[in-house]
Amino acid sequence: MVRQQKKSAVSTARADAKTTVTPGKAKDVALDSAEVKTLKGVGDAMAAKLATLGIFTLQDVLFHLPFRYQDRTRLRRIGELKPGDEGVIEAEVALSEVVQRQRSSLLVRVSDGTGSLTLRFFHFSAKQAEQFERGKVLQCFGEVRRGPGMLEMVHPEYRLANQGQALQNTLTAFYPATEGVQQGTLRKLSDQALAQLRSYRLKDFLPDDVLRSNGLPDLVSALETVHRPPPQANIQDLMDGVHPAIRRLAIEELIAHRMALRQLRDQHQVNNAPVIAAVSALADQLRASLTFALTGAQVRVLEELLADTAKSEPMLRLVQGDVGAGKTVVAALAAAHAVEAGYQVALMAPTEILAEQHLLNFCDWFEPLGISVGWLSGKLKGSDRRSMIEAMAMGRSRIVVGTHALFQADVEFDSLGLAIIDEQHRFGVHQRLALRNKGARNDILPHQLIMTATPIPRTLAMTAYADLDVSIIDELPPGRKPVTTVALESQRRADVVQRVNAAIDDGRQVYWVCTLIEESESLQAEAAEDTAAALTEGLSGHTVGLVHGRMKPKEKEAIMAEFKAAKLEVLVATTVIEVGVDVPNASLMIIENAERLGLSQLHQLRGRVGRGSAQSSCILLYQAPLSKTARERIGIMRDTNDGFVIAERDLEIRGAGEVLGTRQTGAAEFRIAQLGRDDDLLDLVSDLADHLMASSPTSVAGLIRRWIGDGKQDYGGV
Ligand code: ADP
Ligand code: MG
Repeated sequence: MVRQQKKSAVSTARADAKTTVTPGKAKDVALDSAEVKTLKGVGDAMAAKLATLGIFTLQDVLFHLPFRYQDRTRLRRIGELKPGDEGVIEAEVALSEVVQRQRSSLLVRVSDGTGSLTLRFFHFSAKQAEQFERGKVLQCFGEVRRGPGMLEMVHPEYRLANQGQALQNTLTAFYPATEGVQQGTLRKLSDQALAQLRSYRLKDFLPDDVLRSNGLPDLVSALETVHRPPPQANIQDLMDGVHPAIRRLAIEELIAHRMALRQLRDQHQVNNAPVIAAVSALADQLRASLTFALTGAQVRVLEELLADTAKSEPMLRLVQGDVGAGKTVVAALAAAHAVEAGYQVALMAPTEILAEQHLLNFCDWFEPLGISVGWLSGKLKGSDRRSMIEAMAMGRSRIVVGTHALFQADVEFDSLGLAIIDEQHRFGVHQRLALRNKGARNDILPHQLIMTATPIPRTLAMTAYADLDVSIIDELPPGRKPVTTVALESQRRADVVQRVNAAIDDGRQVYWVCTLIEESESLQAEAAEDTAAALTEGLSGHTVGLVHGRMKPKEKEAIMAEFKAAKLEVLVATTVIEVGVDVPNASLMIIENAERLGLSQLHQLRGRVGRGSAQSSCILLYQAPLSKTARERIGIMRDTNDGFVIAERDLEIRGAGEVLGTRQTGAAEFRIAQLGRDDDLLDLVSDLADHLMASSPTSVAGLIRRWIGDGKQDYGGV
């Protein structure tokens, strides 16, 4: 039975100020600070085992939700049972015998007037065998399966029906368990925690009216229902997480996470940042020097950035856009404003090759304007590194491009005004937050601009990236033609080489991308070398170049420059060309072992073609047979060129932890909520979070403490 908790009259957010929970009963804190050891039956040893389940406090016990339920609340008639059913029957022993086949088993035929069923035991004692006397009435619980001749239960739980053990009055919960922690223990613990919950009245932070209008239960009933569902509860809904009781908990958890990130952002924005004028001669010059006009979307996003950087709070903005949407030039224009205002700019990329590509672009754009662009990567060593670091610290270097090395402990800026981070889904919330205080000087923090290599699904933007404002470049530069994608089995290589020949004869250039499942750069390099050799032979008279991750930066650069200048017709490459490479005349891309790559990586790679005026194609070569996921991925690549659609599908297939590149990203890993399943809650969550932040600071603090902790873990530890 759900014990209906009397609703506290003061649980709406607005009424917070006059909250009058009975003295001694406002025990929200009690549950999350009360250790499990305060529960009966939990000593040091059990506490240690529970810790492996993430259970430390009473509250953890309450948030450790069942994954399955059984109905032991009512008797089932044998006549209505089907194979696969689970349930309690009460039946009379008709016959009991031990049969000897390969091994002996005890068979007990029971019937209840509606039908008969066999209880089958493989392990039993002589004493056990004797107790099933004809005429005795048993209560049995188990799963029914098809047996020889009639239905049977194998090793059911059973007891004599007259032993006074009544049926359960709630559905029976099964919890994620671990070695040495039995279901019985977890049930006893949750019983105790639920009892305390009722006497303490866990504070409900969600406004009554909101719960009511969304058909959601209050917190206490939600927890009661989830742990001890009433007999009529819909088990499937509970297990699928679509039951209102679970949705209610998921909403609360999502709100807490969102508020935690928003709060971090607000706290961050209390700091001062340089005010950068939204007009700049340097930026105008840069814009005038471009060989193209900005798209409407680029102009709009640039304006959003400049409105932020013109304020004295540090900007925290995510710029999203599909591959090739032209994010870099927007970042460069924002950089020009910062430089003219007298500040330094840092541009950080997740990989060396992407950083190099940005360096080339920035040099092209800024050096003609008399501004040199510095370079700092992990590979820069010795005196080169020392002098670069000094130039940054002294403020001589105004723009620096690099990798993580830019944010190492001994790197200082004189007056960093804008930090641009090209993120490629590789930095988690924690790293991102840790970077925020880098470059702080005299309490002035830089503005922060984050660009993503491929779009982020809306779900993630609303959760894992909730600490950022978002701008979207939702328009590609004019003239881009969607790339036609086909998938071919790798045996058809000869046909593919024909197509390469044809493309070259048309004056086009070709990428041939070699991938391997091994992360090993040397194996990848070998595969690429072999392919390059084979193609050189197969395409006689044509020029084939090769780049891979084991080449020196100078060698790579030289090859890339030759390809860009069309001195090479085919470029064989490892996935190092995934990002940044920009050769509009290349109109054919072959991707080997495409079945092994993830969607966003395929999309990034494919984004290297389709940049010029010619119709481009991408051939995905795969090894048969394809797994289900691989087939799905390849199908999606064939169906669409839209990075936003691909990102959504990628999230569906892989889940948030994988997409973000870290399973420990906090915001992506919830206790109860699940992205995908709970997406339809996110708008409500964001409204409620805003509402509570504006109206009820105590609720904010309470919710964050309840779900995320008090500063020792997750976001708090950043
Ligand atoms: P991404 O958004 O994937 O980082 P880039 O910034 O690398 O895209 O831009 C892709 C290519 O498009 C670059 O060659 C860039 O110079 C070019 N580009 C950017 N904006 C425009 C525009 N408005 N018109 C034409 N080409 C553009
Ligand atoms: Mg880019």
